[in-house]
Amino acid sequence: MSQPDRPSAAFSLSLIGGILGLIAGLFLSLTMWLAILGVYIIVVNLVILVGAIMLYQDPNSTRTWGIVVLVMSILSAVNIIGLIGGILAITWKPKQPTSTVSSNSSGTIFGTGRRVCPQCGRILNVDVKFCPHCGYDFRKFQSSTTHY
Ligand SMILES: [Zn+2]
Repeated sequence: MSQPDRPSAAFSLSLIGGILGLIAGLFLSLTMWLAILGVYIIVVNLVILVGAIMLYQDPNSTRTWGIVVLVMSILSAVNIIGLIGGILAITWKPKQPTSTVSSNSSGTIFGTGRRVCPQCGRILNVDVKFCPHCGYDFRKFQSSTTHY
């Protein structure tokens, strides 16, 4: 099994940016007349941290959370590290596997009308009963997965 592709660089940068911003906010909040600014920066950087975790957890919405991180980094008196993390997240795209095709248990490739033979790995039309290359019997699978 191959590792699911994740925006690690975007995640680490957003996370580091958020943590550094948080520390900066904590220091500011300890000072007398910048306390409100400090609290504001803490809140903004907490959102960056949440965004960093979310964009890593859910690669499908990396772009959305990247925008959140980006906007929050700008609001956070321009948190450069978070800013770069956000940009990386927005431009990040999962690598499309070229050798392996994603398919469900019956070998069907979603939305393509094609399927992968579980035995020999060749791509076939979805309506074939037997694999013409190795003779694999698809009906064995269909009987158990018709509720799809
Ligand atoms: Zn086959």
